[in-house]
Parts: sequence; C-alpha cells; structure tokens
Amino acid sequence: MHSTPNGSPGTPAGHTADVAIIGAGVSGSCVARRLSAYELDVILLEREVDVCFGVSKANSGIIHGGFHHSPDYLKTRLELQGNLMFDRLQRELDFPFSRCGILVVALSHEEMKYIDHLYTQGVANGAIGIEMCSRERMFELEPKLTTDCVGGLFAPGGGVIEPYRFVFSVVESACKNGVRLATGFDVTHVKRDNDLYLLHSADGRTVRARYVVNAAGLYADTVSRLFGAEEFAIRPRKGQYYLLDRMTRAAPQRVLFPVPTHVSKGMLVIPTAEGTVLIGPTAEEVEDKTELSTDAEHLSDILDQARKMVPAVSQTDIITAFSGLRPALDDPDFFIAVSQRAPGLIQVAGIQSPGLTAAPAIAEYVKDLLKQAGCRLTEKSDWDPFVTRVPRIRDFTPFEADELLRQDPSYGNLVCRCEKISEAEIVAAIRRGHDTLDGIKYFTRAQMGRCQGGFCTYKIIKLIMRETGMRFDQITKRGPGSAVLTGRL
Ligand SMILES: Cc1cc2nc3c(=O)[nH]c(=O)nc-3n(C[C@H](O)[C@H](O)[C@H](O)COP(=O)(O)OP(=O)(O)OC[C@H]3O[C@@H](n4cnc5c(N)ncnc54)[C@H](O)[C@@H]3O)c2cc1C
Repeated sequence: MHSTPNGSPGTPAGHTADVAIIGAGVSGSCVARRLSAYELDVILLEREVDVCFGVSKANSGIIHGGFHHSPDYLKTRLELQGNLMFDRLQRELDFPFSRCGILVVALSHEEMKYIDHLYTQGVANGAIGIEMCSRERMFELEPKLTTDCVGGLFAPGGGVIEPYRFVFSVVESACKNGVRLATGFDVTHVKRDNDLYLLHSADGRTVRARYVVNAAGLYADTVSRLFGAEEFAIRPRKGQYYLLDRMTRAAPQRVLFPVPTHVSKGMLVIPTAEGTVLIGPTAEEVEDKTELSTDAEHLSDILDQARKMVPAVSQTDIITAFSGLRPALDDPDFFIAVSQRAPGLIQVAGIQSPGLTAAPAIAEYVKDLLKQAGCRLTEKSDWDPFVTRVPRIRDFTPFEADELLRQDPSYGNLVCRCEKISEAEIVAAIRRGHDTLDGIKYFTRAQMGRCQGGFCTYKIIKLIMRETGMRFDQITKRGPGSAVLTGRL
C-alpha cells in the first residue's frame, strides 16, 4: 500500500500530527482506524513497503474464544472484547471471517481434568456459550476427530479470519477517514522539541507529533529505547506451519486445539477462513527477529501432532511451509500503558497471541489511554466505517458472473487458477497500492494455491508493469532487496 500524499517524502517540514503511530500491523492499524473517528491529525508510520508485512501476516488467523487465559490478564479482557467486535467489523470492512467455533480435544481422562479447568476459566472470563462435551457430542460437532477422543470443550464464539485482508481493510478505512499512511518510514531517531516529538526515518523524512503510539511488534523494545522510555526485551518465539490444499479430506469444520502446554496452546488443525487448512504452530525461542526458516524436524512433529487429532491429515496435501514470530515479553501479558518515562508515548508491546483477536479492543483501550494522557477527542460527524467491496469471481454463481463480466470483461480472465482470482481483482489490488508480489498475494490470494505462483506470477508481473508503468526489474516480492527479475527481458 502506498504512502498517502501527505505521508510521502514531500510531507511539509513544519506539519505536526496530533498522533503518530509506529507500526502498521494489526495493532497500529486498528488504533489508526479508531482514532480516525475523531477530529485528529493521525499519521501511521510503517518501515515496510506495505502494511501487514510483520507478525500480523503469519499466524493462525484464529479469533480466540476467551477461555485459554486467566482472568487476571489484560489480554484476556481484550481478547473477549475483541472477539465480540468482529461481526460488526466484517459488515463494515469486508474481510473473510467465519465464526466456525473452537473445539479443545481431550485424548485421555487425565486431559479431561484440564478441560474442566479451561471450562471454569472460560466461565469466569465471561466467554459466551462454552460447553463441556462428551465424546458423542465431540463427534457430533466434528466427525473427522480421532476415535481416541474422550471428550472436550466447545467454544461456539471462536472463529477464523484472513489476517492480511483484515489489516488491509482496516488501513483502507482509516485512510478514507483522513489518516495519513507513510510506508517505507523506518523510525530510527527520535528527538523531543518542547512538547513535540520529532520522528526521523532512515531515508531522511521527519514527522512531528504530540502523541506517539509504539505498536512496532517485534521491534517495540528498540522503539521504546529510541524514546528513552521503559526498558524491556521482546523475545521472538517462532511458530512453524504447514498449509494444506483446500481439497484435503482432513479439513475440519471447526478449529481444533489439543489440551495446551505451559508454553503454548499446542499444535492445531485450523480450517482457514478461505477454505484451506493450516496445521501447527510450533513454539520455539529464537534470538534473531528475522529468523523465519522452517525445518524438517519440527515440520514432521507438526504432522504427527495434527494426526493425533485428525488421522486423515496427509503429507500429500501439503502445499507449503512457513513460519511467524510471536513478539513475546518475559511477562506473559500485553504491555499497553502510557509511558512513565516518555510523556505522551503509549506503549503497545508484547502483543503475542491473542493479539489478532484483541486488536480492535486494543484500539479502544489505547484511545482511552490517549485521553488520559491529555489528547482531546472530539467525534467527527461524518466518519464512514465502510470500505468499498471488491467483487471476487469465485463467490459468484454462473448467472451472477455473467452480469459481472458484462460490466467488466477482465473478470473473465483467470490469472490464478488454483485460487480462481481474476485480472480485475489483481488490478483492484494494484490500484489500492499493493504493487509487490506479496502485497497482491495477501490482498487477492493469487499465488497462495497449490502451484504457489508457478502459473500466475509472470502474469501478475505483467499486470503490475501495465498498471504502474514499472520496469520488470523494479518489481519486487516485498520491497527493496527482493527484486524478482534481473537481466534483460
Ligand atoms: C505463530 C503465531 C500464531 C498466532 N496466532 C494467533 C491467532 O490465531 N490469533 C490471535 O489472536 N493472535 C495470534 N497471533 C498473534 C498475532 O499475530 C499478533 O499478536 C499480532 O499480529 C501482532 O500485531 P502487531 O501489530 O502488534 O505487530 P506487527 O504485525 O509485527 O506490526 C508491527 C509493525 O511495526 C513495524 N515496525 C517495526 N519497527 C518499526 C520502526 N522502527 N519504524 C516503523 N515501523 C516499524 C513492522 O514492520 C510491523 O509492520 C499469532 C502470532 C504468531 C507469531
């Protein structure tokens, strides 16, 4: 997504934002949209070429059910509040979301004791509709379960979303309501000038702001240091996954969790919001915040664990493997607070799982913290919560598709055959500023299917060239340093 005009290198030097948000992942983007409802000048700063290229792009996509964590944590409250906000958000923002429900699968009577604990905890947290299940009830809810299942827990309010489409829509909505987006803006230096912050980027741009929100994900510790604020360390915890083809016989109807371990919620079988299946994630402490490799040993463990719940999981259904890094603090809770050391700085750090679920509620919480810190909030009378829907050819019946083709024949040119994505949808992504291969992949799903872009990548490159006027050697996978074609055409 491109910088909006005022966030570009031409930003007036003397221009002052009321609030600058560092980081356009799900946390920063939801804060930006929430603040766009007020008479505020808000700028969203992102170091990558597009939004949602950090932690928010590689996760399980689950809208959690509110029973996994103790009521003592802030994250538990925000998870429950966030969960309840998704139906309305989907109506406003048009992203794939299914409230398919969550099952926790017990494979022994010993594990049923933990299910009992999760149930009691969920009730104490206020999770709506959760249910202790007998073996029979579990099979009624999910026929693909292993016959070893002895019972479990059902949380009907849990679900799945497509995280990148969610974030893209959130940012589109924020920008429609006046938020400026500055991509490629890597905040590397911060100075205090009376009651303003001067945020300098690596490429020489400067933004002045009265209040700043640190939503920098894995780098929230580095950003905090730039402000001379709280000292904490973000310790990445890697999660590896396998993605299974949408044709797999193993696709469950609900998200399946094992009984959790002390470090993670365990390895899951997830029917994604777009019809594929994810299995994973692992939970591995790593030092390097860019270490996203996958390895055979952990992946084979994922297969074993997934088969314990759904025996039909097959190696031949695997399309690809990937990993994400949880931005964990030593404290298991989120750290969301007005900084005690840097005036006007709001810390949004340690946003590991359930950060995706909690993000809309995090935005409410941050809005209240800004008010506490002195930021004046006056509601706009003309705030518009809706984004324009992009029709997707695969959602249409043949009769509806005929009508769509009459309006725009490029819906008839299927660029990505695996995911059934038309030229019109790719062009819509490019015209919204997603002009890298990954940006288009996350916006449309083209390149995400069985062939992983083998068939469509070249066609997408040609469309980017046609729509933007870029040369082939300017086209990248995900911004500077990731050119896909070199030499002569
Ligand atoms: C394996 C895994 C599974 C998960 N599963 C789930 C799940 O199923 N459900 C759920 O609710 N949560 C889940 N989560 C958690 C969820 O993904 C995160 O909580 C959430 O994505 C964090 O979003 P964020 O915006 O805080 O961070 P990010 O998405 O990382 O955003 C931070 C942004 O800040 C930018 N940035 C960093 N430094 C700077 C700088 N100096 N200047 C400018 N920009 C900067 C980065 O480029 C990045 O885009 C999972 C996480 C992982 C890793």
